[in-house]
Amino acid sequence: MTTGELGDGTRCVQGGHPEPVAGKPLLPGPVFAAPYHLGGSDRAADTDFYGRAGNPTWRALESAIGDLEGGHCVLLPSGMAAISTLLRAVLEPGDAVVLPTDGYYATRQFVHDELAELGLDIREIPTPGPWPDGVFDGVRLVLLETPSNPGLDVCDIAALAERAHSAGAWVAVDNTTATPLGQRPLELGADAVLASDTKALSGHSDVLLGHVSVRDSALADRLVRARTLSGAIPGPFESWLAHRSMGTLDLRLARQAENAAALVDALRGHPAVSGLRWPGMPEDPSHELARRQMRRWGGVFRFELADARAVEEFLRRSRLVVGATSFGGVHSTIDRRAQWGDPVPEGFVRFSAGCEDSADLVADVVNALG
Ligand SMILES: *Cc1c(COP(=O)(O)O)cnc(C)c1O
Repeated sequence: MTTGELGDGTRCVQGGHPEPVAGKPLLPGPVFAAPYHLGGSDRAADTDFYGRAGNPTWRALESAIGDLEGGHCVLLPSGMAAISTLLRAVLEPGDAVVLPTDGYYATRQFVHDELAELGLDIREIPTPGPWPDGVFDGVRLVLLETPSNPGLDVCDIAALAERAHSAGAWVAVDNTTATPLGQRPLELGADAVLASDTKALSGHSDVLLGHVSVRDSALADRLVRARTLSGAIPGPFESWLAHRSMGTLDLRLARQAENAAALVDALRGHPAVSGLRWPGMPEDPSHELARRQMRRWGGVFRFELADARAVEEFLRRSRLVVGATSFGGVHSTIDRRAQWGDPVPEGFVRFSAGCEDSADLVADVVNALG
């Protein structure tokens, strides 16, 4: 069913669901098949034949996500699979590529280490800029990440896409922190949007998944071919879990953003806290731009405590917040990013507000700060 004219909550509930049929499930369960029946002769066109090439469970979720994003969605087994599949499909030896200095660390590692044989000209720019004149000259692909993980800085997708396009470059946006409800990069002029659906989209800390959505159907075909031939495919069960979880994405994001707002209010001016950033916070340097380009806020914010010991002490005192990497789940979690090598201070914390009651969470966090 196409849901383009409906609101976010309705689209999350209905997206990718079949037309109702008596006696059939509302959301069909995962289809587990390696080979499918060929039907007594050679393969009939447009039927599934082998699980590496196609699966109705993927297609249902791809339809739901692609519909929200306004593109052709190709599901992949993780966020990194989405990034690596897109970059390998687009980049050629000697190409120039623009990456954020402050985005997801494994993306930089992948380009520097796994794509080393391509001899790329890698240009790294901080998400908030400055974006110097000529930075896109001769570039094949610009990868933006906004809001960036973990710094939550924001860049202007529409303005940068216009500049990149006039220099002949393609633009991809890592939209993991925003989700398709928070931001629609294809509508802002990007050529591709990709995400780790491990985070808020699936939202229960139990699935790894990712996707790329593109406007160009030839590029979508190329990504499907890359998925089929690399053999790195999503599991039908994971895909189904994510689709099932998407039904509550609108609700979860609303609660997470409400909790983030309440926590940010409580932490603002707290003597133990510095460097508080959340795009939804009116005094945040990214707020005005984020308000223009984002559709809603998410539940991820960041701040600094004195050092690694202070973060450890916070976790020891908190009853509701647990230490875990990843974000966007129903449980509130924090991650001390310096432990993974992010270029941030030792006490830098990325906080992912979950779906607990705001009052409980605020009381717990204020108490844990001592
Ligand atoms: C987590 C994350 C990824 C990688 O996703 P996986 O599902 O862990 O492979 C990529 N980009 C961003 C911004 C992320 O937060």
